[in-house]
Amino acid sequence: MREKVSEPAVDSRPKSQSMKRRASLPPRLLLVEDESSLVLTLTDLLTSEGYQVESVGDGLDAIGRAAQENFNLIILDVMLPRKNGFEVCRALRRRGVHTPIIMLTARSQVADKVSGLKLGADDYLAKPFEPSELLARLEALLRRVSAPRESQEEAYRFASVAVDFRRTVVLRNGKPVEMSAREFELLTYFIQRRGATVSREELLRKVWGYEASTLTRTVDAHVWMLRQKLEEDPQNPRYFVTVRGLGYKFVESPS
Ligand code: CA
Repeated sequence: MREKVSEPAVDSRPKSQSMKRRASLPPRLLLVEDESSLVLTLTDLLTSEGYQVESVGDGLDAIGRAAQENFNLIILDVMLPRKNGFEVCRALRRRGVHTPIIMLTARSQVADKVSGLKLGADDYLAKPFEPSELLARLEALLRRVSAPRESQEEAYRFASVAVDFRRTVVLRNGKPVEMSAREFELLTYFIQRRGATVSREELLRKVWGYEASTLTRTVDAHVWMLRQKLEEDPQNPRYFVTVRGLGYKFVESPS
């Protein structure tokens, strides 16, 4: 069955200034989508915003291209021939490809979002979406990835978890934990602000680069993932605790 996709209304998009500020080479994007009308629409939109866009129409080709070439970001549809978006995402992360990924989901259910995040996607957008929303997410993700790391620490340990900031590797009981770029940034931010209560809005602003406060569920989903991956008992978190009504706190040494 064909997915229901409203074509983005290209003319309604706001004028983006950020691309004009960006010097040197345009960011190179891989668009993975099998629906040719949407590929055309998005390619036009992204090209006009100054991005360099390559596209592939199925999951296997996506894995091949993304593993062999350097892209700044991947826009990955979930429903694809040969391999779906979730499988592509997992395959790339397992191969050590850390390129930021925005997944396009046909449905907006939390289950889909959580699956995507669990497999290493950095963000997701439910179809149909506004072109301005896609552009905002792209820019926020690219800005965050290219930002210099503030942390001076090289490593940090808590419980059975060891974080290597320079190599961006997380070990738990000595075994690597698969993490998306966003999850790693979130973990880093928690560690930098350890002992302090941080609101969802602060996390969205600092880790996601968003100003809007309407997306706090995104933060909740990522904190949930960190607990699943790093807590002994994710249902009763000791390190990534909820501060009711305020946000979250990373507790260095729980009593
Ligand atoms: Ca599709």
